[in-house]
Amino acid sequence: MCSLHTMTRSHTPDAPSTTLPTLTRIRRLGIVNAWLVAEDDGLTLVDAATTGSAPAILRAAEALGRPIVRIALTHAHVDHIGALDALAAALPGVEVAVSPRDARLLAKDRTPVPGEPADAKLRGGYPGASTRPTRLLEPGDRVGSLEVVAAPGHTPGQVAFLDVRDRTLIAGDAYATLGGVATTAALNWRFPLPALATWHRPTALRTARELRALDPARLAVGHGPVVDAPGEAMDRAIARAAA
Ligand SMILES: [Zn+2]
Repeated sequence: MCSLHTMTRSHTPDAPSTTLPTLTRIRRLGIVNAWLVAEDDGLTLVDAATTGSAPAILRAAEALGRPIVRIALTHAHVDHIGALDALAAALPGVEVAVSPRDARLLAKDRTPVPGEPADAKLRGGYPGASTRPTRLLEPGDRVGSLEVVAAPGHTPGQVAFLDVRDRTLIAGDAYATLGGVATTAALNWRFPLPALATWHRPTALRTARELRALDPARLAVGHGPVVDAPGEAMDRAIARAAA
């Protein structure tokens, strides 16, 4: 028992004072994830899944016994913002955070920004939302325990979130893990959708390398299960995409 206690403690040196798991997966339609990140002041919802997902997301928060106090979006694709308006209506005063670049897409503005690659193209669904962000995220910002990391490529302004407590990386669609760990810089025939919806694959590949260099302890993505110790799988995914 003693050694077990010691092991548990040594594995969670920066554990928050909460007894909740730091990360809870909400799965929609079998293939779409949203995430609840536990903080001392409540929950951060990362991504808002598909339209109609608000009741399931609110139930998941209720089961954890904490309110959702922030919604942080990795990017503005339909399967990551679908329930945003319904959640914002149900959670008055909730913080809504997104990158400035994808905030334009959230506001249904599809015009390119000067300096973007000429061969980039918006792909996938960008239905926008009525909800306006209350906060625009820059790399290095903190959303609770999550550090904002630039992750462009899948969309022009995608961001990832690194939990500084345990180095869990919530990578949006920079990677997918459904059908194996893959970048969205190249087609994975076992789950091609994220790559097909990618704005600029060379940028996505650069992002995949930058996220790998963070040496995450866990990889959580928009599509597929959490992968522990994902480094080698990320290396293989990058090598495949770069081939
Ligand atoms: Zn997605």
